Amino acid sequence: MRRKAKAIAALLLLVVVAVWLRVRLPPVADDDSLLNFVPPSADVRKAAIDETSQLTPELQRYLDPGDDFPPMPKPGPDDWLANNHEGGQTFNEFRQAEPNRPDQQRRVLYLVAMGEITELQIAQLEPLREFTEAYFTLEAKLLPPMPLAEGVVPIRVNPNTQKRQMLATDLMRLLEQQLPDDAFCLLGITLNDLYSGGHLNYVFGQATLRTRVGVFSFARFDPAFFNDPIPADVDTLILRRSCRTLAHEISHMFGMHHCTFFTCVVNGSNSLAESDSRPMHACPVCLRKLQSSIGFNPREREERLLGVYRQLHLDDEAHWTERRLSRLKAD
Ligand SMILES: [Zn+2]
Ligand SMILES: [Zn+2]
Repeated sequence: MRRKAKAIAALLLLVVVAVWLRVRLPPVADDDSLLNFVPPSADVRKAAIDETSQLTPELQRYLDPGDDFPPMPKPGPDDWLANNHEGGQTFNEFRQAEPNRPDQQRRVLYLVAMGEITELQIAQLEPLREFTEAYFTLEAKLLPPMPLAEGVVPIRVNPNTQKRQMLATDLMRLLEQQLPDDAFCLLGITLNDLYSGGHLNYVFGQATLRTRVGVFSFARFDPAFFNDPIPADVDTLILRRSCRTLAHEISHMFGMHHCTFFTCVVNGSNSLAESDSRPMHACPVCLRKLQSSIGFNPREREERLLGVYRQLHLDDEAHWTERRLSRLKAD
């Protein structure tokens, strides 16, 4: 009888330990979850763009993926889509969600440096402002830098890097209080590394779909953060990463979810390597969302972007945009 009681007690202990482990362990991608993301077929991608026949011929050409936009590939085990379940957001779903749109009162995109920043670094924000203005075809302005007194936001030391990190969600709460009256959105830029409240050990940036504020960090864009060798073109590398993150985060502020249809600037990223593999441009699904919210002329947007890419020596992006423009002018 005592042996039976002991066996039951051991079994109960096993169950408790198993439940405890399940609660405590962070989610790890296994073969099952890897299989959950199916790269979308051509029909699924086309349906996500939705019917375009009622649009102008130029817009129809703009939103035709042709061979220019590769589909979202099957993720590797460390990639975003193997570790995060995302259903995607078609153009129609975006429209039905009635996202924030710029209007006559609120149509300026504001950028602001947060925390410690030097005069030189402030000067480097101007190219980002120009890129933002061209990418979204809306006026972009820099606000005076916002210093952060000690203790204003929670700071922790990251166990992997031993570097200080600020809580992104609290920075966003500060930004919400600073939203200018004519702002469509306000994006904070900081040189501090960031973390969020979830299981991620860092975030590049974070933005909300509804409150029109976001924050992103330059910290990990510089190879010096990881003590890696500094390439000769490090300034271009940091600029490219910064522009890509700006485009991504501000897209969220327009109510856009992560893109799962094509390789696109709005794809989620789990690492710097995955982020570096993303293009600067948006896919036709995301372009349609942006165009429907802002109402820009496709050719004017691409011509302006081309000028900025050339000026900033972002050569790959300039070549891509030249090709897009030639497609737009065809017919
Ligand atoms: Zn994102
Ligand atoms: Zn997209």
